[in-house]
Amino acid sequence: MKFLFLFLDGVGLGVSDPLVNPFAEVQLPHLESLLGGRPFVLDSLPIPDDPEQNYYLPLESERATLVALDAGLGVPGLPQSATGQAVLLTGINIPQKIGYHYGPKPNQAVAEFLRNDNLFSILREGSKEVALINAYPPRYFHGIDSGRRLFSSIPLAVTSAGIPLKTQEDLFAGKALSADFTGQGWRDRLGLPDTPVLTPPQAGERMAALAADYDMVFFEYWLSDYAGHEQDMTAACALLENFDLVLGGLLEAWDDNQGLILITSDHGNLEDLSTRRHTANPVPALVIGEPIYRRTFTSSLSNLTDVTPSIRNFFARGI
Ligand SMILES: [Zn+2]
Repeated sequence: MKFLFLFLDGVGLGVSDPLVNPFAEVQLPHLESLLGGRPFVLDSLPIPDDPEQNYYLPLESERATLVALDAGLGVPGLPQSATGQAVLLTGINIPQKIGYHYGPKPNQAVAEFLRNDNLFSILREGSKEVALINAYPPRYFHGIDSGRRLFSSIPLAVTSAGIPLKTQEDLFAGKALSADFTGQGWRDRLGLPDTPVLTPPQAGERMAALAADYDMVFFEYWLSDYAGHEQDMTAACALLENFDLVLGGLLEAWDDNQGLILITSDHGNLEDLSTRRHTANPVPALVIGEPIYRRTFTSSLSNLTDVTPSIRNFFARGI
């Protein structure tokens, strides 16, 4: 069985207000088809009959289940990327252990957790083939090697597990994806005009094809958090429309019998453009696949710490 972890930085489930929430403003047909035609907002989730119960129930459709995950983890302050990602990758409530949310890059305390067991190292020790399918440009490796650049939580977890990061060669050979999915950004902003450019649906197909080569693949999309900090509704909607086309290509190529896709995040941001900061909103865990697999997977999901144990359990069941 395959697992595709599609991580969107800074995407929460927000209010259904098109003035502040691009998910309420723009039509996203592929994403919304996974929610029975509903928008990707908090109000789309059912609530318990008892109004005293202050939580949301999972939304199930033919092909997917959406669960709202708590990202605050009982710790004051707004959730941040380094700790949020580290919690997703370790299953440990790191903000509670260290007493604060921290980001964007991990400090010593957060890095320590990631260098011990993390999702990548655990699966690898279980003889699973695992990859981070983001390609990193040459300048990234120069920055790391010279000490000018620090790893963020995800590549730190990957490299700590002894898994190499994908390179320009991998991208050019069709064995990885660029951070913007299509490769256009490598041409326009990195000065690499020979970069092959994919259409968004082709990028989604590439993701499905790469997933077939491994037990678990992980893709990190950080432009969503960036767009949230920019607070530009037009740009945010264009970004989401592009993402929706990628998702369309992925869903077209993905066989639900082959495993699960998880789309989740570390903290809210993009869903509320009224603030430059992150939000306290819950984050989505959108799980795509056969109902029997996703029911087991989502049954124990309620906050960020539950993701790694659920993935371990998915593989441990040997399905
Ligand atoms: Zn941020």
